[in-house]
Amino acid sequence: MKRMYVGGEWIESEGKQTIATKDPATQQVTAKVPRGGKEEIHHAIMTARKTFESDEWQDFAPEERGRILYEMAAKIRESAEEIAQLETMDTGKPISQARSDAEAAARYFEYYAGMADKIFGETIPVQANILDYTVREPVGVTAHIIPWNYPIQIASRSTAAAIATGNTVVVKPAEDTPLTALKLAELFEETSLPKGVFNVVTGYGNEAGAALIHHPEVDHITFTGSVQTGTLVMEAASRNIVPVTLELGGKSPNIVFSDAKLDEAADWVVKSVIQNAGQTCSAGSRLLVQEEVKDDFIERVKIRMLSLKLGPGKQDPDLGPVLSEKQFEKIETFLNIARKENASFLAGGERAHVEGYENGYFLAPTLIDGLDVKSEVAQEEIFGPVLSVFTFKDEQEAIQLANATPYGLVTGVWTENIGRGHRLAKKIRAGQVFINNYGAGGGIQMPFGGYKKSGFGREKGLEALRNYTILKNIAVKM
Ligand code: NAD
Repeated sequence: MKRMYVGGEWIESEGKQTIATKDPATQQVTAKVPRGGKEEIHHAIMTARKTFESDEWQDFAPEERGRILYEMAAKIRESAEEIAQLETMDTGKPISQARSDAEAAARYFEYYAGMADKIFGETIPVQANILDYTVREPVGVTAHIIPWNYPIQIASRSTAAAIATGNTVVVKPAEDTPLTALKLAELFEETSLPKGVFNVVTGYGNEAGAALIHHPEVDHITFTGSVQTGTLVMEAASRNIVPVTLELGGKSPNIVFSDAKLDEAADWVVKSVIQNAGQTCSAGSRLLVQEEVKDDFIERVKIRMLSLKLGPGKQDPDLGPVLSEKQFEKIETFLNIARKENASFLAGGERAHVEGYENGYFLAPTLIDGLDVKSEVAQEEIFGPVLSVFTFKDEQEAIQLANATPYGLVTGVWTENIGRGHRLAKKIRAGQVFINNYGAGGGIQMPFGGYKKSGFGREKGLEALRNYTILKNIAVKM
């Protein structure tokens, strides 16, 4: 049985209750973690608070915080294979994707390590006899609620930024995928980070998660997950007047113009929707294609989709199973709506059976045509390898379709007309626009976050440092 990590101690839950995690490929129990709740969350937050206010942490040199984060990056690399195996066991994702996630985690620590001693204020000219200056201080105790789709990456990106800026953190991993957050704790334990700076409490969302977002001693909440839970997070934060960073998913389009390099575009359209079996907030789940190349382009997409290999993550297929029966049922509900609405399934649409892994919930990559733009299937995040196709006549219609969902996370634009690419980038309401690529290799340096219901606040890049600092103005009469 695993334990949680609070104040440098490995603890069980009060009632010694546990949550079993399962391998999505087999549905077999792989580990048991404590079912932390209100008590454990209170203990973790008060420990983080005490540590934050301690002379040791207040006087800790910024470059020393940086050094520890560099050390973490090195430790993550040393344990990369173990982390990747744990991640695949928990999430079901192909092992090569889990290896990239471990590398991204190391990169986050490295990136923010370098920033630890480069956070400073300004002097502002006011009256002649006044010296006015600002300092950027840590906000205090930061809460990090992590989803199950990219556990190690998401836990690393926000905690690295928060610790670099001098905060103390409490992490609540998703109940389905807690193992790599606990591994991070193990690695931190080997560094000289003061005990109580990094804490992990495992538990269910409506127990540990709810206790965390309501706790009055939390100074900032970073949440990645569903809009539904994001709403609860914001409501809870509003009671305590604390800032939140919300990353809530999307319905991101790839817009393909007739002048695009169609093979390259087709490769990325497919990659962007099957990555992590479509369980990616930035998945390219809509294809908007210019009328005159529709048939040709769809054929290219279809050929690629039909050639994909499904299997358990450890065999490094193109797609693993989706996380759980619950997630599979959610996807099926959307597919049934599409069927009722007489949409055509050009590929997939059914559970796929993988020999030896009959209990895994595999979904064949699915391509749907003929949906109404207003259909729930075209509007809502499905979180599976499901791509819906729409056509447009011209730039204007492409922009209108791209913006016609409640989300605005990512957009891919495929065209050889660079002026057009920039015109679209300007008019599309999304946090990231990629022209002739999708994701730019994951770019941990690029600010990431949403417009509209995709959330607000930015993670990654230097912009994320704003989440974890608060500005103080000081004026001195000379
Ligand atoms: P969720 O939003 O419920 O879970 C995300 C995290 O929030 C988990 O750690 C969970 O324990 C926690 N949580 C749940 N309820 C909470 C509460 N009341 N208070 C505080 N924390 C709480 O998501 P889910 O139910 O696991 O998945 C449902 C759907 O959400 C998915 O199908 C997908 O559409 C979306 N989702 C999006 C992302 C993303 O990256 N944007 C990630 C995961 C899920």
